[in-house]
Amino acid sequence: MPALQTNSSKSPAAGTFDVVVVGAGFAGMYMLHRLRGSGLSVRVYEQGGDVGGTWYWNRYPGARCDVESMQYSYSFSDELQQEWDWSERYAPQPEILKYANHVADRFDLRTDIQLNTRVDRAVFDESASRWSVTTSDGNTVTAQFVILATGCLSNARMPDIKGLADFKGKVYHTGHWPHQPVDFTGLRVGVIGTGSSGIQSVPVIAEQASHLTVFQRTANFSIPARNAALTPEEREEFRSNYPEIRRFAREEARNGIYTDMPDRGALDDGDNERRARYESRWTRGGLTFMSVYNDLALDRAANDTAADFVREKIAEIVKDHEIAKLLQPNSHPIGTKRICIDSDYFAAFNRPNVTLVDIKADPIEEILPNGVRAGGKDYEVDALVLATGFDAMTGSVAKIELCGRDGQTLNQKWAEGPRTYLGLMSAGFPNLFLITGPGSPSVLSNMIVSIEQHVDWIADCIGYMRERDLDAMEAGKDAEDSWVAHVNEVAHGTLYPQANSWYMGANIPGKPQIFMPYIGGVGVYRQICNDVAAKGYEGFTMTATERPKMAASS
Ligand SMILES: Cc1cc2nc3c(=O)[nH]c(=O)nc-3n(C[C@H](O)[C@H](O)[C@H](O)COP(=O)(O)OP(=O)(O)OC[C@H]3O[C@@H](n4cnc5c(N)ncnc54)[C@H](O)[C@@H]3O)c2cc1C
Repeated sequence: MPALQTNSSKSPAAGTFDVVVVGAGFAGMYMLHRLRGSGLSVRVYEQGGDVGGTWYWNRYPGARCDVESMQYSYSFSDELQQEWDWSERYAPQPEILKYANHVADRFDLRTDIQLNTRVDRAVFDESASRWSVTTSDGNTVTAQFVILATGCLSNARMPDIKGLADFKGKVYHTGHWPHQPVDFTGLRVGVIGTGSSGIQSVPVIAEQASHLTVFQRTANFSIPARNAALTPEEREEFRSNYPEIRRFAREEARNGIYTDMPDRGALDDGDNERRARYESRWTRGGLTFMSVYNDLALDRAANDTAADFVREKIAEIVKDHEIAKLLQPNSHPIGTKRICIDSDYFAAFNRPNVTLVDIKADPIEEILPNGVRAGGKDYEVDALVLATGFDAMTGSVAKIELCGRDGQTLNQKWAEGPRTYLGLMSAGFPNLFLITGPGSPSVLSNMIVSIEQHVDWIADCIGYMRERDLDAMEAGKDAEDSWVAHVNEVAHGTLYPQANSWYMGANIPGKPQIFMPYIGGVGVYRQICNDVAAKGYEGFTMTATERPKMAASS
């Protein structure tokens, strides 16, 4: 078996590739670009009809990023970051999708991406150190490496509610939104779910619908986005400082976002000073609210000061005292569920055409043909929006039948929760990489920073193997066990496990509850990964397959 087909992207043997990449979101696209740059033959499979991943699927009203666009963008090409003009502080979904398409065209990626094709199965052949990959079009190809760029938030969760199938109106999931614009004008609409997608869509749908009923199980903390058009001067300030901004986001920031680092804890300041600091972050808007102090994720008393501040703000915005109380989150420390960023979410509940229903107190009993029954009361709706989130981090991986050594499947191995070394590989599954897998900072970070780091690490690792004629790489069981223990230990030193969040798998009935992302921070994590590589991929085993001597002409 040859180690790798050199420069074979132009003429791989039919159905044989160096690498199969699953998914053509930001991760899959950059992975393809990097590997092609090293002369490898690559096939990317994407089940959707175009590139863009998250931004292809999530077309709901109000969808936009919550990390500022000048930072939520690729950094690998300086030309790209200098030439692309983001229009707003937080670009709306159509613009991010346009950017993804621009990247695909600019770097000529489409020729190696097969759209509308799902990867259903991949089986590792131990004797050849190759994967056989079967796709939804009935084809099977082989590849030395399989890279899962399947996304942490790509498996939309359909709630199992009695009667949903018999609902007479249209049902939309925010993560599977139609491609044609949906017009709610004159309709009574129900939104189920008040996580990030619900919080983004409610104010926009409220403006169209004749009536909007919002079904809330858990009140969530949300900070105003303060979205606005970006001026040419603001763009220029970022562009001229990009080398330092990107370096800081990669190496020093915990969450991959360039911002001022907190130098003190919340209780180090007196009441007035603390309030002034929260007020200034609230006015600035955005995710950096949580980095005003360095102990908000660690100390409950410190966290309470931030949570109280936001609860007070909600009470100031929402005129009806009872509704304000329902919207004030009390079930978890602030930031321990992904904090939301909104544009006039709380103010939407002051509108006469918006009703809030507390389905924690009065759970949904069933969906009726023309409405929702909760707590014995019927709410008539013509259309339903399910903002019920995703089977996060592992959902899309679990849908693929991945058979590793000795025929064991990844789902069998992960039955009690995901186990990886560095979030990059799982023992028993050689030559199978995950991008932003469980056990890496992934969803706790600006994901493009984490994606680029993983892609670069994987591409460098494959290059290392290639230079040494190595065929197989696998996470060691001991290294994996230690990493899993470390990920848990770090998580349990924080307040995060106190929330029933999708970080814990708590939104999926029956899913093992384990804190999945690595919370040590992207800078620390990057250093760990770099050190592992510098020590010859410590904790991984790399092997060469015995090869028969080739004839000179072959
Ligand atoms: C509404 C929303 C807003 C977000 N905003 C932000 C933000 O502001 N900042 C941030 O950092 N992150 C944000 N995220 C997270 C976002 O998912 C990542 O930032 C990023 O887009 C992930 O890129 P990806 O390529 O890893 O995964 P994805 O974009 O999810 O792409 C994965 C692709 O793999 C495909 N796929 C999966 N399984 C298969 C299979 N078996 N066969 C073939 N194809 C498959 C999917 O169809 C999908 O297109 C947001 C997520 C959502 C849902």
